[in-house]
Amino acid sequence: MTDPRCPACAVEMEPTTVTTDGAGTLYVKTERDGGILQRLGLGDYEPLESFCCPECGLVRQYAELDD
Ligand SMILES: [Zn+2]
Repeated sequence: MTDPRCPACAVEMEPTTVTTDGAGTLYVKTERDGGILQRLGLGDYEPLESFCCPECGLVRQYAELDD
């Protein structure tokens, strides 16, 4: 994942951390057999990379795909 851009502002988004107090890192859970996420190559748990737009504050999250 390189240089994600805000769809509204078209500026480069900054890496950030999205979390809940004391709960550690967010991840996506992809346990379903044959689900679309599994077809994309995701394992059971994939951490999320988070980016924040410095202009409007939009936060986007990307599952860390193996490719
Ligand atoms: Zn923005």
